[in-house]
Amino acid sequence: MSAEIICVGTELLLGDILNTNAQFLAQQLATLGIPHFYQTVVGDNPERIKQVIDIALNRNSQILIFTGGLGPTPDDLTVETIADFFGVGLVEKPEIIEDILRKYASRDREMTPSNRKQALIPEGAEILPNPGGTAPGIIWRVGGATILTFPGVPSEMQRMWQETAVPYLKSQGWGKDIIYSRSLKFWGIAESALAEKVDAFLNMQNPTVAPYAGMGEVRLRVSALAKSEEEAQQLIEPVAQQLQQIGGLNYYGADDDTLASVVGSLLQAEGETLAVAESCTGGGLGSMLTAVSGSSNYFWGGVISYDNKVKISMLGVNPEDLAQSGAVSETVAKQMAQGVRSRLSTTWGLSITGIAGPGGGSETKPVGLVYIGLAGPDDYVESVKYQLGQQRDRASIRLVAACNALDQLRRKLLARSLSSR
Ligand code: ATP
Ligand code: MG
Repeated sequence: MSAEIICVGTELLLGDILNTNAQFLAQQLATLGIPHFYQTVVGDNPERIKQVIDIALNRNSQILIFTGGLGPTPDDLTVETIADFFGVGLVEKPEIIEDILRKYASRDREMTPSNRKQALIPEGAEILPNPGGTAPGIIWRVGGATILTFPGVPSEMQRMWQETAVPYLKSQGWGKDIIYSRSLKFWGIAESALAEKVDAFLNMQNPTVAPYAGMGEVRLRVSALAKSEEEAQQLIEPVAQQLQQIGGLNYYGADDDTLASVVGSLLQAEGETLAVAESCTGGGLGSMLTAVSGSSNYFWGGVISYDNKVKISMLGVNPEDLAQSGAVSETVAKQMAQGVRSRLSTTWGLSITGIAGPGGGSETKPVGLVYIGLAGPDDYVESVKYQLGQQRDRASIRLVAACNALDQLRRKLLARSLSSR
């Protein structure tokens, strides 16, 4: 038993819109534990839509989920094409007409003749109500399969899915088991290195463990198939704990945790505060920190010291050191961190200076070279050199640099709390 997602719309083929409906439905099917092996995008073309149905049935897909093409215009022909494929006629449903009339009246508008088309559904199909719009979908058991149709508009589709389709599928015995996942997040280790360390876990059956690499970040997705979320959690918990232990300090959090939120919790636990001095990231670090709700409890602000004049006037960087070592250097990173910490009177000062490219690199200071400075209590100051790679583009160098800065602070805060135990 498996489901198949079929998104209808020429605008999808042209690349005008992103197929977020497929993403939503795929995630939903996974949570419901309904297997799904194929997704199709097809234009508003009856012949090709019929071919897609034929292929789906031939590969034994039993749930066909359509989105798009339920509207009143002539290019909206999903339902009539499906009916035509099965050789079944359309019938007009008075309750749909009434519903459309009511919705139009409530908006002080009149129903157009073209809306009548939306009241036509295949004989034998049930109405899948659309509380958010005028075009209803259908639920139709036909030819050994179950057909579900939804409008293309994501908000309407999602509501119909949650309110009607999910209860229907469950009532038919589908989606009894759920798939529940936890994403463990690691920073500072390559995907291949982590995969080697957790090799023994990658062949597990329930839960399964799969590595994913993002921009500088690696995730292990631990997924369990179970009767309930609690049961799934019980399967996931011991495995997640072992994986965390193997990851050591590279493990930073799970699911919704971000490097910024984890740093925030660590600071808040100690009642400490942070200020940042940014050059090549131009505010990206501050932006990540303030994306966390409640960050005003520990993040006080920062200086975007893009020009050297600002490094000198606002952060107190020594002009001679700047001239001698250059803006992208260990010395300047340290002075930026110390400067912002003392000017803003925070517990910690965190700084970034680097070459984001694509221009501005040299033999000795190539694109991707970044220094991150950290200053803290008891005259603590450090600067770490990162070589983020010349093959990365400007946006990723800036992003990874800001993440590395957060990670550097995270490790410092963790190391300190470990040593004080
Ligand atoms: P309408 O009554 O609005 O015409 P419809 O069911 O005919 O609804 P479409 O005309 O196919 O749906 O799409 C309506 C709008 O919904 C599109 O312009 C697009 O913005 C959005 N949409 C359609 N399909 C998708 C999809 N697969 N993913 C995300 N958005 C979509
Ligand atoms: Mg339409």
